[in-house]
Amino acid sequence: MKFQAFGLNERLLANIEAMGFRKPTDIQYKAMRPILGGDDVLAIAQTGTGKTAAFAIPAIENLMRSQRRLHYSGVRCIVMEPTHELAQQSGAVLEKLVVNSGLNVLAIYGGVDQAPQIEKLQKGVDILVATPGRMFDLSSQGYLDVSLCEILILDEADHMLDLGFIDDIRQLVKRLPKHRQTLFFSATINEKIKKLAYSVVNKPVNIRISPKDMVSRNVTHCVLMVKMDEKRFYLERIAKEHPEDRIIVFVRTRVRAERVCQAMKRVDVRAVSMHGDLGQKERNTALDQFRNNEVQILVATDITARGIDIPSVPFVVNYDVPDIPENYVHRVGRTGRGMDKGNALTLCAPEEKETLKEVEEFIGGPIARMVMDAVEREATLDFSAANKQDDWQSLIFEEEARRAKEKIKNKKK
Ligand code: ADP
Ligand code: MG
Repeated sequence: MKFQAFGLNERLLANIEAMGFRKPTDIQYKAMRPILGGDDVLAIAQTGTGKTAAFAIPAIENLMRSQRRLHYSGVRCIVMEPTHELAQQSGAVLEKLVVNSGLNVLAIYGGVDQAPQIEKLQKGVDILVATPGRMFDLSSQGYLDVSLCEILILDEADHMLDLGFIDDIRQLVKRLPKHRQTLFFSATINEKIKKLAYSVVNKPVNIRISPKDMVSRNVTHCVLMVKMDEKRFYLERIAKEHPEDRIIVFVRTRVRAERVCQAMKRVDVRAVSMHGDLGQKERNTALDQFRNNEVQILVATDITARGIDIPSVPFVVNYDVPDIPENYVHRVGRTGRGMDKGNALTLCAPEEKETLKEVEEFIGGPIARMVMDAVEREATLDFSAANKQDDWQSLIFEEEARRAKEKIKNKKK
């Protein structure tokens, strides 16, 4: 089946082709007709399966078909995203898809000056991509007119509904026209959140792709049992044995992100950290450095676990077992995107065994264990120790050289 089969506008088809999409992915294929038909949709599909385009393409088509005049300061479609980075990323995908369509896209998120965002909002926006914080902020200041909004989309829907914004979302929904479309997209969902989603819409069409195996089939994932304070040696070895490959490393806290990053730098592995303590500019710089291959490792907390789409990242390392079980699915989903294959390794210390059990319960089965014998373990520790020895030896040499020079000087005197 090709995109042409859905009767999409020629200009939209040209944009899809320009993005290099030859045929729809499963979720794009399954979501297209219900969304084009105006249904509310709750779609669950694994990480990296093209959910952004799965809601964006039919939403754009519907907006082009409806030809409702742009209302002063009005917004016709809202896409909600949990983080700044995801608002930017989805905004960029939407921008590519609306070329020559007559529609415009605006991404708004916190951490940047709101004045230019307000100015653009007041001119009218067809598709607004927003983080909830900034959006409800601008809304409460009266800058957001949603009275003609035709489509509301919640990406990473379970997280969006769980962020404590449900009351704001209900308020928002009340102000939207009765005849509107609501779309939920995510890789994970639980019963509680599903009920919340249903409370906002009328009888949504349920679409689920491979619900049993939450981890994308493109990802090979396993666990290695290691001691907490030996984890860095394993990471160092993976990085150095695959010098051409980029790695996303997930840690539990911001402090640990900094520490792991420093530990890698000390052994000459290029690394950068990304977490919530950093300003927006630093976060963008970190992501750019990683995207542009200036660093091999991105050490991140769970704020980066969801949605971020960086092609060609062959490894994800869970340096810490995730506290929130569903984050396991999102973390390992940063590899194996689109048509790529990926590997995910979880380093589990004895004190994390219980947390790992919760993860395995959540994903519905045990994760394969990587077997590491004593020889391999020694080899890994030696692998790193060798570096330290080199450093140590070079210091000794320097000291010897200094003394030798001193001797010569003294003799001359
Ligand atoms: P998800 O939201 O499901 O995790 P994304 O929407 O971020 O996934 O897409 C993952 C990757 O797949 C992106 O790099 C995107 O460009 C690519 N992709 C999406 N749809 C297609 C398609 N039809 N053909 C080829 N690649 C696609
Ligand atoms: Mg996504």
